[in-house]
Amino acid sequence: MADITKVTEIYGSLVFDSDTMKERLPKDVFKSVQKTARMGSHLERALADIVAAAMKEWAIELGATHYTHWFQPMTGLTAEKHDSFISPTDDGNVIMEFSGKELIKGEPDASSFPSGGLRATFEARGYTAWDPSSPAFIKDGTLYIPTAFCSYKGEALDKKTPLLRSQEAVSKSAKRLLHLIGRTDIAHIDVTVGAEQEYFLIDKDMYKRRKDLMICGRTLLGAPAPKGQEKEDHYFGVLKPKVAQFMHELDMELWKLGIPAKTKHNEVAPAQHELAPLFETANIAVDHNQLTMEIMKKVADKFGYACLLHEKPFAGINGSGKHDNWSLSTDSGENLLDPGKTPGENKQFLLLLMAVIAAVDDYQELIRLSVATAGNDHRLGGDEAPPAIVSVFIGDELAGVLKSIEEGEVYEGEDKVRMTWAHILPHITMDTTDRNRTSPFAFTGNKFEFRMPGSSLSMAQPNVAINTAVSEELDRIYDKLKDVPLSEQSTAIDAILRRMLRQHKRIIFNGNGYTQEWVEEAKRRGLLNLASVPDAIPYIKSDKIVELMEKHKVLSKEELESRYEIYLENYIKEIHIEALTLCEMVRKDISYSIVNYSRIVAQDAAGKLKVDNTLKCTYEKDILKRLDAAEDGICSAMDQLDADIKKAEALSDPLETARFYRDVILEDMNKVRGFVDAAELIIPNEYVNYPTYEEMLFSLR
Ligand code: ADP
Ligand code: MG
Repeated sequence: MADITKVTEIYGSLVFDSDTMKERLPKDVFKSVQKTARMGSHLERALADIVAAAMKEWAIELGATHYTHWFQPMTGLTAEKHDSFISPTDDGNVIMEFSGKELIKGEPDASSFPSGGLRATFEARGYTAWDPSSPAFIKDGTLYIPTAFCSYKGEALDKKTPLLRSQEAVSKSAKRLLHLIGRTDIAHIDVTVGAEQEYFLIDKDMYKRRKDLMICGRTLLGAPAPKGQEKEDHYFGVLKPKVAQFMHELDMELWKLGIPAKTKHNEVAPAQHELAPLFETANIAVDHNQLTMEIMKKVADKFGYACLLHEKPFAGINGSGKHDNWSLSTDSGENLLDPGKTPGENKQFLLLLMAVIAAVDDYQELIRLSVATAGNDHRLGGDEAPPAIVSVFIGDELAGVLKSIEEGEVYEGEDKVRMTWAHILPHITMDTTDRNRTSPFAFTGNKFEFRMPGSSLSMAQPNVAINTAVSEELDRIYDKLKDVPLSEQSTAIDAILRRMLRQHKRIIFNGNGYTQEWVEEAKRRGLLNLASVPDAIPYIKSDKIVELMEKHKVLSKEELESRYEIYLENYIKEIHIEALTLCEMVRKDISYSIVNYSRIVAQDAAGKLKVDNTLKCTYEKDILKRLDAAEDGICSAMDQLDADIKKAEALSDPLETARFYRDVILEDMNKVRGFVDAAELIIPNEYVNYPTYEEMLFSLR
């Protein structure tokens, strides 16, 4: 274990953060950089040269030899190309150089990143542009500079650009509205985000023997273990010693990068865990979540584990999500979604709360499609994760507050219950909301928690959706209030809240989201239920979404159309690769296991019959019969899958193709799996060519 007193020292030690800048930059330069970072203002070239020089000095002192523009293309992963600082001198030596120009702008070849038609191949050039609001850091001997990535014509080819634009939009809209209602003290508003990250750890050697996990991130075959999560004994359970060590080292690595990892625990499924950081401004939180996922894998590898970030690595047990905790905060750190002691009288809070509720209702499809991926389709609507129907949970107390607003009454409120479970223990006042784990979008006391994102998703997407939709609702409220005389403002706000509540209360649901009754009730309420990627993604091109995104300058029509293409393409490719991997595993691994084991059993029976030909060989015959039936089933299901893959390859329209993969290929794959898993159940582990669920899920030490 590391020396605990050192934590405060190592925290952020590899980050060019504001303390480091303050130390190393002239005062006026430091101030300009701070302003650029926080307000998004422009930084002069001359100043950039000074910042670059200081960054380089600092990086070299910490052993860096290279720098990279680090960006987030539409693959959902991060990308980097490393350049060294060396520059030749006349005398044949080198010096270490890094200019403001190199800091601000990069020109990676964009042709190998998905662009969804935005960039013709002859315009292969793309640009990366320094994002001064996210601090540079050092990793593996390279100085990492967070950047945005766009095409030659300036269209966003990444996830960061729309996030920055949406942050700006909601920040501007919120500030304007709050100024109107008297909060002229607020200079700036930030979006705050805390991303809780779920993941699985399994033994690395086993992982390497599963082609499906290696290639697709999830198991495509595998009979259930005799024990799954039904005993509910893993959640918050005692950490296994090596897992605890892994988590400790992970924390240390994250802390060095200034990532405020805070909470860690076992999750519901066996071998499943969670890490939650303290919240930060959205852009930094998103960058940090990308880094967290990467470092998790790296540290896991060191401990002989594989870290699985797929949404559904194992059938039949919980998959992994990523909770997006979201709020707005002023420059002085005031949380704008804090209800205070008397939420019923807190108009500022009620307006913001109502704006979020309205945003989720009016833009359900946008919220839903922001988390639509092939992996997440396996999870949403299962008994483990929120349903594909978007709704908002606000809890009993706020429901009471809103009800009194709707009915035009004064909210009496109930004395907050004080809980005492034993005299010796402290009194605890209850939160404004209880926990409702089944809600996709829950108000959790002083922030919203969006629970639909899948574990591997870039947090940029859901936050772009929430920021933009909320921005629109704030603007609508502003428009209704802006001409009201100050003396009538309070009454006008009440009327607005009442009207909005009547209009949007259908989205509020405080019950159990996992039930069939809710599915039916939601249908009666007219809520959308977009079960899969091909159901959700087409909305990205709808007039309504295009209008919203263009109005708030977050994404243009062309940028949205490119995303439509990319998201569908990603979906198609992912299932296509899964289908091919399944074929490979069936033909090479399970077929071999079945044939091999059948031979052993048959030889055994033949041997017995040689000794005494009246023996019945009941076991052997039964096993052979069942294996034979499985072989038969596998062969015909595989023929079907082969034929359908050919059909799929011949399709061209992306939406039609995506639907075909969902309706036909995934079904074919399930059929194959059914027969394979039945065979696996009767073959002893030593003859199965890959580790079983039981071995993978219960082997952590
Ligand atoms: P739980 O979800 O278990 O109730 P917490 O409420 O402590 O746990 O926080 C969960 C996550 O929400 C953490 O990442 C935390 O930093 C984040 N969070 C807390 N307050 C805010 C806020 N105002 N804005 C954004 N995220 C927040
Ligand atoms: Mg939570």
